[in-house]
Amino acid sequence: MPSDVVVEINAKDVGLEKIASGKVREIFKVDDETLLFVATDRISAYDVVLENGISGKGALLTQLSAHWFDLIRTNIPSLQLHIISLSLPPSIPAETQPLLANRSMQVRRHPILPIESIVRGYITGSAWAEYRASGTVNGMRMPAGLQESQRLETAIWTPSTKAEAGEHDENISKERAGEILGEEVAGRVEGMSLRLYEMARDYAEKCGILIADTKFEFGLDARTNELVLVDEVLTPDSSRFWSAESYVVGQSQQSYDKQFLRDWLTSTGNKGKEGVVLPEEIAKRTAEKYTEAYEKLTGKTWR
Ligand code: ATP
Ligand code: MG
Repeated sequence: MPSDVVVEINAKDVGLEKIASGKVREIFKVDDETLLFVATDRISAYDVVLENGISGKGALLTQLSAHWFDLIRTNIPSLQLHIISLSLPPSIPAETQPLLANRSMQVRRHPILPIESIVRGYITGSAWAEYRASGTVNGMRMPAGLQESQRLETAIWTPSTKAEAGEHDENISKERAGEILGEEVAGRVEGMSLRLYEMARDYAEKCGILIADTKFEFGLDARTNELVLVDEVLTPDSSRFWSAESYVVGQSQQSYDKQFLRDWLTSTGNKGKEGVVLPEEIAKRTAEKYTEAYEKLTGKTWR
């Protein structure tokens, strides 16, 4: 693995309490209201984290999320965002700063709503499987005659549960989401998610990227009861990005970033296995695809 790749971050080096470790991120407590949200270079596919990291991936996810947060602030100024800044808390030891720089975000800590707020603009993945079997998506009746990967007339909100580590998220109906969140909050989450998706879809399309679907997470501001957009936003890890150029309706599409990885895992019988080490060539090509997505979406050169 190239020496700059970071797959683990020790609380001891950071000097802050680690409060959570996800598939990709490590979360540290700065103070009661503030978290340090750090993206490592870990990558997961088919719900399993691979042994190697992808060079530059953590920083790229953080910077791409920051780009979207800026766009959202401009386009939907009423929405609260969890991002405070991309700088590190002053307490971080000087020798640890290079490890955390560019990949970290200070964010406001909020209670997280217990659903994944997924929006789909194209029919693919689990939605396509359900549609083929029953003509519905998350229990909603869909128009007849849709083809695989077809763009939907209007984007749809298809929430899921947030599974515990090692388990799979489960698609749920709007009614179920209403029971979990309360009707009023669920309605706001749906409306805001669709608005965010539509803004991002139209923006990305001009950059040559189709956002087939994406996942948002929201918190609630305990004081005002307003929604707060949290987590990463509109990255290749939280979304399905397709190349607009090679898009063909009626078949499955190559995923922008993980295709080399998934093809290699499947063809070598490593799909879904723990502890898999990728060949350097696959890691490198995957890194190139992440870079391409970043450059297209931001119009900036990555390093
Ligand atoms: P999940 O599948 O739940 O997203 P993950 O393995 O993808 O887990 P990571 O992306 O590595 O997790 O870590 C992000 C975690 O931080 C998520 O569980 C998310 O709910 C949580 N989170 C994001 N933003 C905030 C915030 N502002 N306050 C508190 N928790 C947050
Ligand atoms: Mg996540």
